[in-house]
Amino acid sequence: MNRQWQLNRRPVGEPTISDFKLVTGNVPARVAENDVLVRNRLLSLDPYMRWRMDDAKSYAPAVGLGEVMVGATISEVLQSQTPEFKVGDIVAAQGGWQDYAVVNRKAVRKLDVDQIAPEAYLGVLGSPGFTAYAGLMKIGNPRPGETVVVGAATGPVGSMVGQLARRTGARAVAIAGGAEKCGIATSEFGFSAAIDHRAPDFAAQLAKACPDGIDVYFENIGGEVLEAVIPLLNDFARIPVCGVISQYSGLASGENETSLNRFMRDILVKRLLVRGFIVTDFADIREEFDQTIAPLVASGEIRRLEDVVEGLEQAPHAFLGLLRGKNRGKLIVRIDDD
Ligand code: NDP
Repeated sequence: MNRQWQLNRRPVGEPTISDFKLVTGNVPARVAENDVLVRNRLLSLDPYMRWRMDDAKSYAPAVGLGEVMVGATISEVLQSQTPEFKVGDIVAAQGGWQDYAVVNRKAVRKLDVDQIAPEAYLGVLGSPGFTAYAGLMKIGNPRPGETVVVGAATGPVGSMVGQLARRTGARAVAIAGGAEKCGIATSEFGFSAAIDHRAPDFAAQLAKACPDGIDVYFENIGGEVLEAVIPLLNDFARIPVCGVISQYSGLASGENETSLNRFMRDILVKRLLVRGFIVTDFADIREEFDQTIAPLVASGEIRRLEDVVEGLEQAPHAFLGLLRGKNRGKLIVRIDDD
């Protein structure tokens, strides 16, 4: 028999046990070409699953009511209709919250479990580990001596972020829930400091732990943690936006909905690229700009609109008009001879 946890109803706020339903059915009898039948041995439970329980538009489809909950698994092949996998192979699959699953060969990866414990393929060598690596190394880009801050620091993503940050020569600061986890962050994962986000003076403690500010904030949390981080960000800080777990259970109800929370969620789900800049940051491409654009202005391919005000005495009046949108095009004062 195949035991299956299905989504029973959509939670409002924190999920409860009755949002899930345990259903027992038959093990799939027939395996189509290119598919394998697997017995799930390990199931990964991840924060994103809370998101999938809502039917709000997101980066991935919601789990339907009465459908099996999604999830990554380490599974054993029981039947195979493809030469790439044979009976007994241990594979990574998206087997879901159930005993057995039929999965397409393209969504299955054979694992070497002689050298590496199968559990590792759901953590450090699985999606969380890769998430940490990609976000930190390709977006955060930490440099020696910089300060990297990450929340959920003892979890699979955060703990990997901390260890990788240290390996690049950066100083890693953990945010975690409670004294025990803070201890784990420093003793097990080598964070230089760990701050409890539940402490009443969390923001002050974080500021003290980051005397040189924050250069990389690896965002896992959102909400109040983010608000404490923002004032500490250094010039040119980078923020890989990986998750906003403090918001997941409030999404459907709109609880804690602020413009900042909404914005962070959009940055994550829509993969927005947000980067502040001041024009002087790009002095090295000024010449390229002149060479590219000047001929286009001369030929009229790039059009100009100018609003010329006559006389220096008009400057304050014209300037106030600009702030109210009175100008039509580039506002210029022609200074007369007098
Ligand atoms: P964890 O195993 O670390 O579990 C989540 C942790 O988040 C909890 O243990 C808790 O740790 C912390 N947390 C929960 N609620 C709150 C809250 N209200 N305020 C502060 N902290 C809270 O999770 P993962 O390592 O698997 O994931 C970490 C983050 O990475 C999540 O946001 C997840 O959604 C995201 N993620 C994103 C991916 C992507 O592709 N963008 C892929 C994988 C994960 P504590 O008690 O220490 O606070």
